[in-house]
Amino acid sequence: MLDYRRFKEINDLFAKGQPEKARHLLMELQSRCIALRDELDMLKIRIQAFEDILYFTKNLYKENGFYWLKTAGVKQGPFCPQCYAHERALIPLEKSRHDLRCPYCNTAHTHSSPPCAGSNHQERQAKIIPFAG
Ligand SMILES: [Zn+2]
Repeated sequence: MLDYRRFKEINDLFAKGQPEKARHLLMELQSRCIALRDELDMLKIRIQAFEDILYFTKNLYKENGFYWLKTAGVKQGPFCPQCYAHERALIPLEKSRHDLRCPYCNTAHTHSSPPCAGSNHQERQAKIIPFAG
């Protein structure tokens, strides 16, 4: 912490005609201020990291073996489960003709899950046509 009484000490030293002592004390305070500023910046970064973790804890979930992220009420994903498990990275899977593929680790996933979120595309449902009796 910064001891604010030191500012009064500096003022008193100037008033007593001791500018060198005052200047020395001022330099000490300056270096303490710089150290506190660095500590504050580091703490802000740590708070942001904790806020990010909290956000993911609240909004990231697993469904049908894939990770999904809810942002502003919109479901995003699916994200690669391998990349998330190994590197905590959210890599959106790309849809190809026969599977979902991760562009980062190149793992192919079968279409056992719903299609990508945000798509209004309706998957064709298999229709069972009974034999004519
Ligand atoms: Zn991956």
